[in-house]
Amino acid sequence: MLRQALLVASRSDGVRRVLETAPFSSDMVRRFIAGETIEDAARVTGELTGEGLLVTLDVLGEDTHGKGRAEENTQHYIELLERIGAAGLGTRAEVSVKLSAMGQTFDEDLALNNAYRICDAARSAGTTVTLDMEEHTTVDSTLRIVHQLRRDFPDVGVVIQAYLRRAEEHCAELAYEGSRVRLCKGAYAAPSAVAFTDKEEVDKSFVRCMKVLMAGRGYPMLATHDPRLIEIAGALAVLHDRDADSFEYQMLYGIRPQEQRRLAAQGAQVRVYVAYGREWYPYFMRRLAERPANLRFFMRSLAGR
Ligand code: FAD
Repeated sequence: MLRQALLVASRSDGVRRVLETAPFSSDMVRRFIAGETIEDAARVTGELTGEGLLVTLDVLGEDTHGKGRAEENTQHYIELLERIGAAGLGTRAEVSVKLSAMGQTFDEDLALNNAYRICDAARSAGTTVTLDMEEHTTVDSTLRIVHQLRRDFPDVGVVIQAYLRRAEEHCAELAYEGSRVRLCKGAYAAPSAVAFTDKEEVDKSFVRCMKVLMAGRGYPMLATHDPRLIEIAGALAVLHDRDADSFEYQMLYGIRPQEQRRLAAQGAQVRVYVAYGREWYPYFMRRLAERPANLRFFMRSLAGR
C-alpha cells in the first residue's frame, strides 16, 4: 500500500514542486544522488573507479514533454560523454539513458534520433549506453528503439524488469552473442495484468530470467542488492563456467556500498549506477518506495532542517 502511494506521489507535480525547492537539504537525498552538477558526477565517478568499481551515469530527468527539453537532455549527455572521453574513463564509465527524457512520450522517432546521437558520442568516448526501462506502457517502444539502435551500435544495453510477466520471454529473445542485458526487479507501479505484484513471485521470475541470461551467449548485467539473488548469480556463473569478465553485478549509488566493494575485492565486475542532476524527485521517490523505512528517515531529516 505504502509502496503504491509513494509511486503515485513520484508522479505528482505538486509534491515535486515542494520538495525540489530545497534540493540537497536532506541527507537522505544526498545518500542516493551524487549531486546536482556534472562536476559532482565527475568527482563521484573518480572516487568509485579509483576503488576498482565500474560506473553507469544517469543524468536525472524523465517524462519530458517538450522538444526543446528533450534536446537539452540530449546535449547534457553528449557533454557528459565528452568529459568521460577526455578523462580517459571510457572503459570504466558508461551512461544510462531514459528514453522518456529524449521525447519518447510524444515522439518515438525523436527519441530514437536523440538516443542515436548519444550512442554516437559514447562510441567517440570509447564507452557504451544502456537504455533504462521505465513504465510498462513504454516497453514495446523501448525494445523497438533498442533493436533499431543495435543495427549500428550492437553494444547498446537493454533492461528487462523481472516483475513483468513477459520478462522471461524477452530474456530468451535477448540472450544472443554480444547482447548486453541488465536484469532488475522493476521500480514502477504496474497492474497485475502485466506484472507480478507479489514479492516472492518477482524474486522467482528474477531467478528464471537470470538462468536464461547466464546460460545464454550475451553479457548479463545483474542489477540487484538482494543477497539471495546475488548468491544464486554466483552459483550460476560457476555452473555455466562464466569468466568474471563475461557478466557484471550492478547496484545503485548509496545502497549496500560495502557489498559492492566485497564483490569487487573477490574479482567480480561491479558497476554502480550514479544519478545526478536537479530533477531528483521521481528517482528519489522510487528509492523510498523500494524501502518504505527510508521514508521515516527522510521525514525526520526534513523536520530537522
Ligand atoms: P529488493 O528486494 O528491493 O531489495 C533487496 C535489499 O536491498 C533490501 O533488503 C535492502 O537491503 C536493499 N535495498 C534495496 N533497495 C533499497 C533502497 N531503496 N534503500 C535502501 N536499501 C535498499 N528499475 C527499473 O524499473 N528500470 C531500470 O532501468 C532500472 N535500472 C536499475 C539499474 C541498477 C544498476 C539497479 C541496481 C536497479 C535498477 N532498477 C531499475 C531498480 C530495480 O528495479 C529495483 O527497484 C531496485 O534495485 C530494488 O530491488 P532489489 O533487486 O535490490 O531488491
